[in-house]
Parts: sequence; C-alpha cells; structure tokens
Amino acid sequence: MSRISHLEGPQGHHEIDRVGPVILLGVPGAGKGTQAKRISAHYQIPHISTGDMFRAFVRAETTRGRQFWEYMQRGELVPDKIVCEIVAERVLQRDCQRGFILDGFPRTVTQTEWLIKFLAKHHLTGGGGVVVLYLAVGYNSLFERLSGRLSCPSCGRSYHRTTQPPKHDNVCDFDGATLIQRGDDSPEVIRERLTTYEQQTLPLVEYFRTHGRFYQIDGTEPADVVTERIYNALDACRGTAA
Ligand code: AMP
Repeated sequence: MSRISHLEGPQGHHEIDRVGPVILLGVPGAGKGTQAKRISAHYQIPHISTGDMFRAFVRAETTRGRQFWEYMQRGELVPDKIVCEIVAERVLQRDCQRGFILDGFPRTVTQTEWLIKFLAKHHLTGGGGVVVLYLAVGYNSLFERLSGRLSCPSCGRSYHRTTQPPKHDNVCDFDGATLIQRGDDSPEVIRERLTTYEQQTLPLVEYFRTHGRFYQIDGTEPADVVTERIYNALDACRGTAA
C-alpha cells in the first residue's frame, strides 16, 4: 500500500484521488481555456471558468448579465465581491470535492486572499494547498492569438483561425455549431484587457511563485506539448502536500 493511500480528507475522500485545486494563470490568450478543458476531461474534475460563467449570464439577457457585459466590453474586471460570491457558490457543489480547475480566477490580490481563506475554511485543499500552473507567453504573440480566436457558443471549445483551425470552416468539430469571435476579442478591448492583466493579475504570478506548488510552463509550445507538461506536473503532486 502506498504511504499516502490511506489518508482521507474531512469529507472522507482519499487524498490520492485529489487533483488540485488547480489554478491556471496566464495572460488572456495564453491557452488557459483549451488546457483547462483537457485537464477537466483527463482527471474528471470540473472546469470552472469565471469568464464562461459571465458569458452565460450575458446570453441569458438578465439585468445581471447586462451589468457583466458592461465590464467585459470595456476590458475591465467585474468587481471582486460579485466574482467571489459566484465562485463560492460553484466550488461548494458536491462535484468539486475531489478537486477542480479554476480558469480566469483569481485575477486580483483581493480574490486571491479570499480564495485561500475560503478553501481552508471549507477544507477544499485536503491540506495540500493549491497547485498553480502558469502558462507563460510573451506579449508579442498575444495579439495574433486573441484576434484569431474563435469559440463555440454551444460547448465553449476554442479554436484559432491559423494555429488550431476547426476541421470545417467556422464549424465546431464537436457539436457542429457555428463558431463565433468573442465580442471582447476586438483590437481595442484586447488592448484594455492586457493592461488590466498587467496591473491587476500579473502580480499574482510572483505571489504564487513563492507560495505553494507552482509550475511555470512555456505556453508558446504546441498545445499537446503544453498538455503533456501539465499532466506531468499534476501527476507529480497528486496526493502530496505543499
Ligand atoms: P476570460 O474569458 O477569462 O478572458 O474573461 C472575460 C471577462 O470576464 C474578463 O475580461 C472580465 O471582464 C470578466 N472576468 C472573468 N473572470 C474574472 C475575474 N476573476 N474577476 C473579474 N472579472 C472577471
């Protein structure tokens, strides 16, 4: 029997089964969404994308959705309090007990401090702390990555006109829906989003580098290479404490 196979978390889950919680950090366009979907399918843990959640509110055309869209189309962040409430509700659901992957959250120091306390309070880390994967991508390629990006409005899968095209023009390989360009992937909003990232999110990279299990992965490598490196990192820390 392995040294740790008998350990159980407060909810009775075997710690050897736990994955993360995983935080994916990286500038918009670094490939977080693509990688998060793969990790989610491979390890059978939920993919929690705050951006996807906000876009679902926008599609539902609720008052809240309209408010979110205002922030998103300016390339600004939705206020911390609202984002944290939405994340709290999601990660307390039962399917998150074995672990989950956060994509696009946290994005500010306030969100980070809240998250660390919240996970500890609800025993959601199994004592091991979070696993942070930083997809590092130079700024030069980002404009091209973001402006060529296409996504499926139905399943959320991401494509790129030149680097990761669908099998048939503008059609999702998975469910056949017509692909769209995100409203906030226009040149003006991209510029704002990158500025927002630099000012509010980039400092988190240095914070996590010195706190807990941190892996920097070259996000400019082909997507399959990045995925393999991520799996190696996650397999290496399964069931291990920080
Ligand atoms: P994303 O799909 O992650 O690029 O997010 C799209 C937009 O949703 C961002 O530009 C923000 O306006 C908003 N958003 C997503 N996640 C967060 C977050 N953690 N905090 C604040 N705003 C967010």
